[in-house]
Amino acid sequence: MESTRDEREGSGAQAGSRAHDFDAAELADIRAALLAWYRVHGRDLPWRGTRDPYMIWVSEVMLQQTRVATVLDYYRRWMERFPTLDELAAASLDDVLGMWSGLGYYRRARYLHEASVQVAQQMDGQLPKSAKELRKIKGIGEYTAGAIASIAFAQPVAAVDGNVERVLARLRAISGDVRSGAPRKLLRRLAAQLVDPDEPGDFNQALMELGARVCTPRQPGCEVCPVRGHCRAYRTGRQADYPNAGARPEQRPVDLRCAVVVRQGAAGAQFLVRKRPADGIWGNLWEFPTSEMPGALGEAGRAQAMQRVVREILGTPAQLREPARALGDFVHHFTHLLLNIHAELWLLADAGCDDHTPAAVPEQARWVDDSELEVLGMSAAMRKVLALYQAQKS
Ligand code: SF4
Repeated sequence: MESTRDEREGSGAQAGSRAHDFDAAELADIRAALLAWYRVHGRDLPWRGTRDPYMIWVSEVMLQQTRVATVLDYYRRWMERFPTLDELAAASLDDVLGMWSGLGYYRRARYLHEASVQVAQQMDGQLPKSAKELRKIKGIGEYTAGAIASIAFAQPVAAVDGNVERVLARLRAISGDVRSGAPRKLLRRLAAQLVDPDEPGDFNQALMELGARVCTPRQPGCEVCPVRGHCRAYRTGRQADYPNAGARPEQRPVDLRCAVVVRQGAAGAQFLVRKRPADGIWGNLWEFPTSEMPGALGEAGRAQAMQRVVREILGTPAQLREPARALGDFVHHFTHLLLNIHAELWLLADAGCDDHTPAAVPEQARWVDDSELEVLGMSAAMRKVLALYQAQKS
């Protein structure tokens, strides 16, 4: 079968030719069309319309892997609590994780905090202007550096996120995995060509906005797309073929059991929580006592394993008022893990409650009441466990 022009261009470019490059007329057309579309259709979001590099930085970090609708509320509360980089740098990690609680990918919050200290101590509290210098800061990668440099400092550099990858892969019909090797390099070269040197910040945001709202992964809105006249995937009707993101990593299933251990204190119910180690998933976050359950363990073995975990925290076997009661099961996804979580309720007997004092130091395990639970840094999975507990109460 005869190959199409775009397919010939595609294979040629990935072998190193310049067949995908934009010519001067295309660059001018695409920039003008995209910026005009963005001025009319761009969403009015709290981090837009500012040049404050700290505010842009925080928004970009929150938006990684997280939807705008979810970020809005977190961003607003974060800016109330840490309105400047200096205030973030002066906060405790516990406070920072508490503000991030439920947003997921907690390494982002830890890095943001560490980086704010780095900037406060080593850079006089000022984020540098160039993408190259920004990348020397903890947790700031190629994309975030490009976004801050272009939006806050009007530097003519690209900011390539997943949305931009998709738009460019379709515009130029780039085959292959755009996240690695030659296609990745090609895509970044094209992004660097395309960025508008006069309005790099708005242009980058326009490209991201197009990917988020029009050039969506499934059923892109080509009929309303301002750049469809330049889109090779649209021309050949092959939008669904681009981009090829490569194989997804396989998720390893892991069984977890989690106990909501409750005792009646003088002022009401109290919950046993402990802090996770700094390394690994949910590092430094608080959790209800949780243990991984090897598949070979039967129900009795699982119950014993859980008792061991709680005994280690309390320093004494837990005296239960009634047998542990199931609260529910749910699945929680990580990129590489599929967590099957079984939650259960342990109501401690009134007698001997005073003995149920965590053996570990209070920074690592303690009893907290309802209001403290609300502000503790906990993962979304632990928040789901808490919701299961609250649902059975009502
Ligand atoms: Fe995406 Fe369609 Fe626009 Fe091409 S024409 S960039 S596929 S929305």
